[in-house]
Amino acid sequence: MDCIFCKIIAGEIPSQKVYEDDRVLAFHDINPIAPVHILVVPKRHIPSLLAIQSDDQELVGELHLALQHVAKEMGVADSGFRVITNTGTHGQQTVHHLHYHLIGGRQLEWKA
Ligand code: 5GP
Ligand code: ZN
Repeated sequence: MDCIFCKIIAGEIPSQKVYEDDRVLAFHDINPIAPVHILVVPKRHIPSLLAIQSDDQELVGELHLALQHVAKEMGVADSGFRVITNTGTHGQQTVHHLHYHLIGGRQLEWKA
C-alpha cells in the first residue's frame, strides 16, 4: 500500500519514535509547527476519522491513552496542548492514514 505512515510503521521510512505498543505508534512530525509536534497513529491502516467502525472503539480509546502518555512524556501535560485530526478536503488532511497531531510547547492561538 502506498501510505507514508504504513511505511513508517513497517520501518521502511525512518522516524523519531516517542511511543510504541502493539497497536499504536507515536513519532515526531517531520515538519513541526510547534516545539512539540507528535503524530499518534494506529498501526492498522484506517484512512480517516470517517472510516472508524464500531469495532474500533477500543483502539480509539487506546489512541487517546497514548496521546495522554505522550503529552506527559513530552512535558506538555501541565502547560497544555492541542490534539487535532484533520479530515477530508476542508480539513486539509494530506496523509490518508488516521492520525492525531499533538501540538504544544508554546502558547497556541485558535485560528481555524
Ligand atoms: P495532515 O496534513 O494529513 O493532517 O498531516 C500529515 C502530517 O504528516 C504533516 O504534518 C506532515 O508534516 C507529516 N508528515 C508527512 N510525511 C511525513 C514523514 O515522512 N515523516 C514524518 N515524521 N511526518 C510526515
Ligand atoms: Zn497507512
